[in-house]
Amino acid sequence: MFQKVLIANRGEIALRILRACRDMGIHSVAVHSTADASAMHVRLADESICIGPAAAADSYLNPVAILSAATVSNADAIHPGYGFLSENAKFAAMVEEHGIAFIGPSPEHIRLMGDKVAAKRFCREAGIPVVPGSDGPIASEAAARAIAAEIGYPVLVKASAGGGGRGMKVVEDADSLASAMELASAEAASAFGNGELYLEKYLARPRHIEVQVLADLHGAVIHLGERDCSMQRRHQKILEEAPSPALGEDERKLICASAVQAAKALGYRSVGTVEFLYSEGEFYFIEMNTRLQVEHPVTEMVCEIDLVREMIRVASGAPLGYGQDDVRTSGHAIECRINAEDPVTFIPMPGRIGDYHPPGGPGVRVDSALYSSYAVPPYYDSMIAKLIVHGPTREVCMMRLRRALAEYVIDGIPTTIPLHTRVLEAEDFRLGTYHVHWLEQFVRAGQSGTAPAATD
Ligand code: ADP
Repeated sequence: MFQKVLIANRGEIALRILRACRDMGIHSVAVHSTADASAMHVRLADESICIGPAAAADSYLNPVAILSAATVSNADAIHPGYGFLSENAKFAAMVEEHGIAFIGPSPEHIRLMGDKVAAKRFCREAGIPVVPGSDGPIASEAAARAIAAEIGYPVLVKASAGGGGRGMKVVEDADSLASAMELASAEAASAFGNGELYLEKYLARPRHIEVQVLADLHGAVIHLGERDCSMQRRHQKILEEAPSPALGEDERKLICASAVQAAKALGYRSVGTVEFLYSEGEFYFIEMNTRLQVEHPVTEMVCEIDLVREMIRVASGAPLGYGQDDVRTSGHAIECRINAEDPVTFIPMPGRIGDYHPPGGPGVRVDSALYSSYAVPPYYDSMIAKLIVHGPTREVCMMRLRRALAEYVIDGIPTTIPLHTRVLEAEDFRLGTYHVHWLEQFVRAGQSGTAPAATD
């Protein structure tokens, strides 16, 4: 087992990893930018090292600074968390070349799945259904026109190197195809340094359902059930739940088996998430995330498995030690992402918080690095806390979530707490019939009524 793990991240996920290390008796090394000198992950770690100025490009995204910190602190492994360098194949390879373990999948798998066109091709060839669309990158506008005409409008232009919903444009008709491609390509080029695009059928009311997989270095692959992440704004998740209220047992078995099939075909290791869109009884692979996900706690709550601990264990070469039949799920879990942003416009609103009082009580977990009078820096992601609630049934879970949201005090800055409270009251949420476009329609409609329900 590792003696010392360097955590190449910040915020709640750095704390989450630190806590797993402490539970395992492993020393932790925090890295931080100058803007995070008094951050919670720095205060709680066994050691901390400043790796650069506030801008992420000069600190949390700087492989050389992080590797130097690992070398001087004598860390034998690096956990990348999510975001930042977690899906950077070059960084993972550099870490391994320096004789340090990368707590995550192999660089080859990160690279393959990071190319969404290659990932779709891989899954199609492995016999997993994918969203109808272009077989590869779009070679020209004429080629795009031909494919769009064949699959039918509306279509979605997506970036091969995409992530976080960027470089994605809905195209309603042939007239707007060229301008959408131009915009999406420019956005992708500036965000990912790669403007390559592909095309998909735009599904009207799909659900986003993803499957958590876990694999060791010795070929064992299991799944830990699915998460429903259909509550989104700007193609980004804001609330996740497990299990999905949309799936029956047969569909659940099928979608989970497909995810395991993909991971086995890859020869995958560590944790990963195979993402699907589910529409009218059919599911389609969209992408695989080769890292720990923000929403991993809902799986932890229903499976009673510490995913970060498992990641660390399997990275050290330990066998998984249990099989699919040993995994039992119980009850229901919901996670609300609490962002420092305007709950209507979704514009980030960092600033200094005043009083801080997180909720507690039965079934409540808060993953956050906040404390009273903490100043949320403007340089990083606007997510400041995750409220995760578990209950024996979805109904009990919703009651507990209502209680926890009402108790949660974050003074001084606007947050998405009021939005979550209103979503919880919405009939479509209570019935579990919402879809990926539902929240934006709900917000546009003044958050009073219901948006068109999912068709599944
Ligand atoms: P990213 O990697 O940028 O997050 P994804 O491919 O994972 O992009 O898609 C993000 C979200 O965008 C999905 O959860 C879904 O809400 C929406 N989306 C993606 N593909 C489609 C599609 N073909 N039709 C409708 N919505 C889609």
